[in-house]
Amino acid sequence: MCCENVQEIFGEDVFNDSVMSHRLPKNVYKTLKNTIKKGHELDPSIADVVANAMKDWAIEKGATHYCHWFQPMTGVTAEKHDSFINLTDDGGVIMNFSGKQLIQGEPDASSFPSGGLRATFEARGYTAWDCTSPVFVKRDGDNTTLFIPCAFISYTGDVLDKKTPLLRSMDAVCKQGMRVLKALGNTTSERIIATLGAEQEYFLIDESYVEQRLDLMLCGRTLFGAQPAKGQDLCDHYFGSIEERVANFMAEANRDLWRLGVSASTQHNEVAPSQYEVAPIFGTLNVATDHNQLTMEVLQKVARRHGFYCLLHEKPFHNMNGSGKHVNWSMSTDDGMNLLDPGDNPHDNAQFMVILAAIVKAVDEYAPLLRASVASSSNDCRLGGHEAPPAIISIFLGDQLGKIVANIAKGGKNANAKGEAIQLGVGTLPKLPKDATDRNRTSPFAFTGNKFEFRMAGSLINTSGPTFVLNTIVAEALKQIADKLEKAKDINKAVQAICQELFKKHERIIFNGDNYSEAWPKEAEKRGLLNLTNAPDAFKCMKEKYVKDVFKDHKVFSPSELNSRLEILLDTYTQNVLIEGRTALTIANRELIPAIMEYSARLASAAAVVKDAGGCDCVHSRRLEKICTLLGALQGGVDSIEEALAKVEAEDNSMKQAEKARDLVRPAIQEARAAADELEEIVDADVWPLPTYNEMLYLRS
Ligand code: ADP
Ligand code: MG
Repeated sequence: MCCENVQEIFGEDVFNDSVMSHRLPKNVYKTLKNTIKKGHELDPSIADVVANAMKDWAIEKGATHYCHWFQPMTGVTAEKHDSFINLTDDGGVIMNFSGKQLIQGEPDASSFPSGGLRATFEARGYTAWDCTSPVFVKRDGDNTTLFIPCAFISYTGDVLDKKTPLLRSMDAVCKQGMRVLKALGNTTSERIIATLGAEQEYFLIDESYVEQRLDLMLCGRTLFGAQPAKGQDLCDHYFGSIEERVANFMAEANRDLWRLGVSASTQHNEVAPSQYEVAPIFGTLNVATDHNQLTMEVLQKVARRHGFYCLLHEKPFHNMNGSGKHVNWSMSTDDGMNLLDPGDNPHDNAQFMVILAAIVKAVDEYAPLLRASVASSSNDCRLGGHEAPPAIISIFLGDQLGKIVANIAKGGKNANAKGEAIQLGVGTLPKLPKDATDRNRTSPFAFTGNKFEFRMAGSLINTSGPTFVLNTIVAEALKQIADKLEKAKDINKAVQAICQELFKKHERIIFNGDNYSEAWPKEAEKRGLLNLTNAPDAFKCMKEKYVKDVFKDHKVFSPSELNSRLEILLDTYTQNVLIEGRTALTIANRELIPAIMEYSARLASAAAVVKDAGGCDCVHSRRLEKICTLLGALQGGVDSIEEALAKVEAEDNSMKQAEKARDLVRPAIQEARAAADELEEIVDADVWPLPTYNEMLYLRS
């Protein structure tokens, strides 16, 4: 493997531009390229030719099937394979793939969550090729399949997936952003493209441990487990040298990703023991989102080949660092300008400030929605602890840019960081050194030199959620700015006035201090910023008119589509917490309590034997008493979980159900856990039925 040429294998399994230009007739290639560039639907008149070329290419790669690959609301990707074979009259087969089969699929949608958008009898759903994301072949064991990245909508055209709103939001931000650029005098750019670089954190533990832990298997996180003797106290894992077995895993994962055209680029040990990160080179948002889905899948598959299990949950281990997925987001033009690059001439500076003002406005006005976009039962376990940002949305700009923005907000005496007056569109800003903007790792939404890094997003998330929200709310801010700029007589004055007004109005959302400090939540409250610590509270804003309006106005969701999304999010939250509750019950009832009972009986007989022999049984009885007390507490926790589950199941309002899951089930699990974790530390290691934190995080077989 080490001898493979990376340049040769990169994108080897992708029907990319170079393959297209080689295999398609010139005019078809040109039409297809134009469609991809403009983000239009594929012209049916060329579809047959394109499909046929794809089929031949895929068959040469060993493919027997094709599939429409989509991202329903289940949290995982979906694929249904169809073979290329067609029967012939003489009893044989020919391999066929038509333009129609490429463009559109018709999977039965009835078993995918729709949040009440349609009844089961109208089960039909359509998948449609997102031709801006290239098709590829994927190899799973001996099976090789042509994958077609798709959007998924219902018979009536309602959105059923995560990709459709993403594509719609990319159009919205492009449209409104272009209005602003044109008003500022740009005559060369035709499109704005949102970009994404998703850093993916994960844990790797020995597969054998997962087989012994139902909680990891079913919930992706430990519901029980005492703290290890050594946690992350010494900070010796972060950026440490990579263990050989892990390095072999990473090499193979990289190779598989590169073949799929995923630009996995950086890799390192993360803060917690057994925690790692991989990040790609950023790219066009929808393609980068597909690539992140593939990255998660490849990490999990390759891990198994190496005897590892890859945990993507945001908080697999209590009191240890959780896993995030930092969403690095920006906007570029089709002629190569990054709109979040401050630039070094007066015009670029002014443009940067307008874009920045739009983002500051958007994030402040729609902070609850942005918070909701990363809310889930699993991320609730991570936010606010152990190097994860708190649940309060704020923006970090860094000292230098922060000062410039504050000065602009003050108006009149506009000044750059050195205190010199600046006039947007006329004067220049001092060059912002990129590393100076990235020192604050505690911010949920940080400007990092030429992009924003949304760190609140968790490791399991599909990046479309936070990014379609960002695109939509920024599109709205850009729209309002464009409305003003298009009417302005003096564009520089208008820019100055808009930036001043917006930075002043939304100053409260900018926070350059320590987000982990105890003082921040108090300060944030004074500023009127919300601290939505849990998913059900975060989701509530989706019922508000201003949220419905922004999605409707930018054609991302109709109110009924948004409502269905809310129902799905609430149900998913509740179901996940219920699964945790049931899993905790099973582990406690069938593994922990029997083991503790047996151990206590052994202890009691040992005490009797010692006493009979004339020895002192005082240690025995002290321990026995403690164990029995804790066993009682564990049983108490089990009773609480049972009661809580029944109460949640009896509730039929989705919001109340989620709230009950949060308020009753999660604390009950915690109650059981507290007793069990104490027991784990005092009973014989040989009788404890679950692999411990010490074993899972440090022992490799
Ligand atoms: P850090 O760990 O310091 O945050 P990394 O290098 O791990 O930095 O990750 C930064 C991520 O941001 C990479 O995936 C990188 O490609 C991405 N990125 C860089 N520039 C942009 C941009 N303009 N738009 C989106 N993502 C970007
Ligand atoms: Mg980062």
